[in-house]
Amino acid sequence: MSLFPSYKKILRIGIDGKLYCEHNLVAPLRVAGTCTSRPGHEFYECPYALRRGDCNVFFWKEDVDNYVLRGAEKRALEVQKEKLEEEKGLLERELASYAVPILLLSRDSCRDGY
Ligand SMILES: [Zn+2]
Repeated sequence: MSLFPSYKKILRIGIDGKLYCEHNLVAPLRVAGTCTSRPGHEFYECPYALRRGDCNVFFWKEDVDNYVLRGAEKRALEVQKEKLEEEKGLLERELASYAVPILLLSRDSCRDGY
């Protein structure tokens, strides 16, 4: 079962950091020609692209980079959140242990100084 809705293409990145197509082959990085929507931009696609057996895997490099970056940022934020939650717990326990009575000086005790 896919984690993604069926209308979305699945971005598969191996532990080697390379992008894989549906054939389980490394999708090579290529440069788009002038007759495309993003001339000069880099993209990954199935090595069988435009040939028989093409699995239609195609991703713009900037989209992949943004996606990977967002994922990494999200994981970093989750780790940070966990650390802060832990710190919060420690501080709350510390605060509870500081429940000592605070003595307030009344006006009378101030006058004693005169
Ligand atoms: Zn393929």
